[in-house]
Amino acid sequence: MICYLCNIDKTIEDFIVRKDGLRYKMCKSCNLEVQKKRLENKGKRLNHTDEHRTCYKCMRLLPNKEFTRRATGTYYSACKDCNKYEFAHKRRVRLLEAGGTFTQKEFDELLKKYTSCPMCKRKWSDIPLPKNLKVPWTADHIIPINPPHGQQQGTNHITNIQPLCYSCNSKKGNRVL
Ligand SMILES: [Zn+2]
Ligand SMILES: [Zn+2]
Ligand SMILES: [Zn+2]
Repeated sequence: MICYLCNIDKTIEDFIVRKDGLRYKMCKSCNLEVQKKRLENKGKRLNHTDEHRTCYKCMRLLPNKEFTRRATGTYYSACKDCNKYEFAHKRRVRLLEAGGTFTQKEFDELLKKYTSCPMCKRKWSDIPLPKNLKVPWTADHIIPINPPHGQQQGTNHITNIQPLCYSCNSKKGNRVL
């Protein structure tokens, strides 16, 4: 497993196990460094300059471009790396909690029943493909696995999956694949 801070391929024991049984993507020695920097900076404001910011998660001083900017112009307090790995991690946890799995084969079978996106009704062949995608469809949870508070949580079984075009899926904000 590669630590996203030092980029070194380390054994699984070099990563801390979380309460949910999954491991942090940051290795133990990097984590120790981060904890040390946190202690040193305790009570102090994080160092931000015109061109650089300090990520509150990994405590690295990074160029502004390593941070996502909100539409309002302010930056996220965690760097893109920390956000990405943290986000991917939360998503995996939610998928585990939701229960169930489906195979590529099951998804391909399901896809045969759809000639168009069920949300925008555009034919798959009519949907323009961005450079980073090979197909226009994505797998979507019909009942979300991260529902608004108080609502039922969907599962990750094939019966709760439908294909949606990438643009409808990103509007829905509930992508699976
Ligand atoms: Zn590391
Ligand atoms: Zn960071
Ligand atoms: Zn669509």
